[in-house]
Amino acid sequence: MPFKTNDPTKKTWLSVPENSDFPIQNIPFGVFLTRDDIITIGTRIGDHAIDLGALHQLGYFKDIPLTDDIFLQDTLNDFISDGKKTWRLVRNRISEIFDSNNPELKTNEEHKKIVLFTLDEIEMQLPVQIGDYTDFYSSKEHATNIGTMFRDPKNALMPNWLHIPVGYHGRSSSIVPSGTAVHRPMGQTLPKGSDTPVYGPSKVVDFELETAFITTDANVLGEPIPIEEAEDYIFGMVLFNDWSARDIQKWEYVPLGPFLAKNFASSISPWIVTMDALEPFRVSSPKQNPEPLPYLRQKGNKSFDIHLEVDITPEGQPPTTVTRSNFKYMYWTMAQQLAHHTVNGCKVNSGDMMGSGTISGPTADSYGSMLELAWQGTKPVPLNDGSTRTSIQDNDTVTLRGYCQSENVRIGFGEVRTKLLPVFQSKKK
Ligand code: CA
Repeated sequence: MPFKTNDPTKKTWLSVPENSDFPIQNIPFGVFLTRDDIITIGTRIGDHAIDLGALHQLGYFKDIPLTDDIFLQDTLNDFISDGKKTWRLVRNRISEIFDSNNPELKTNEEHKKIVLFTLDEIEMQLPVQIGDYTDFYSSKEHATNIGTMFRDPKNALMPNWLHIPVGYHGRSSSIVPSGTAVHRPMGQTLPKGSDTPVYGPSKVVDFELETAFITTDANVLGEPIPIEEAEDYIFGMVLFNDWSARDIQKWEYVPLGPFLAKNFASSISPWIVTMDALEPFRVSSPKQNPEPLPYLRQKGNKSFDIHLEVDITPEGQPPTTVTRSNFKYMYWTMAQQLAHHTVNGCKVNSGDMMGSGTISGPTADSYGSMLELAWQGTKPVPLNDGSTRTSIQDNDTVTLRGYCQSENVRIGFGEVRTKLLPVFQSKKK
């Protein structure tokens, strides 16, 4: 089934600002609250949000086999469950409706009033009900940096790292969309030089620059997903800030890995960019040596050239871009992660989310966390307001952005912007 949405010469009759992440070639999916307080599934072109529920009710998708209420839901899970063929039919049709040569909706003022919203009229929600959330650890540069700091520079990578896309099961209840502020967590830490832990606010809150992919129902319990099919079950990607409390992490992580240091909050960008939209930006992933076991061997270009960057904005001050990285640095690909995740028969559901792990590049200005950028606090990162940071301070806002850029087209994710609030204060007397 062909998809026609990527033609770089295609233009829309909607206005699209220059350098927008959301040209007509993108057509992401999200969920938003409208000016009438109705939750609907939508897409975005330029700075217009488009109500797909309303478009469907007005008959614009009548040639596609969809249930009547498929877009009148507060999550994308059922639509994602319909599978890749349906995702493509719907994106092809949206691309057609908004094509500058198509007068169908363009000249229908009544319908336009119903389906089009400006961004200030809507409030973005979590796009999916995330059943299960898994986070990988798939950047070799990141794993090497962490191993160098915490263990031994000569044996920075654990012996399994080059053979397994290492991951852990996280917690979905604390995943929030862009714009939702999060609190500095309380927890147990071991002060330097002490052998007795203390309880108090984390002193070392950090971001992790990640992306995440969202799956459809892919298999039955017991059935592995072969690597050559894995990409067919990936609906799309979002930006992902996996908030981390380094001091809590350091004390708790042996032997079972991160727990409370990671599950107090993770923030995602609200528009899911489909794999079809990212298709023109395919690139090869780093050469793997040693060659992985046969179930992890892949053919062709399985990575994507996605520029990633992070800003820190202290309250009332200008932003500073503290790092620029790229998704293509990831050693293990999403196809390998999903094949590995299910090789034991683990079932994957519609709306499951898999984090990439912190994406660090090869140079000191492309690391994906403050832990690495400030090298465990030894190299404070200067900000534009004259202050420095070794971790995120109360009332700082952290913003992740990501986009693919070719000569003619930019496909972006928008941003995930989160303010770190001081420790939670109970309002109960
Ligand atoms: Ca992480």
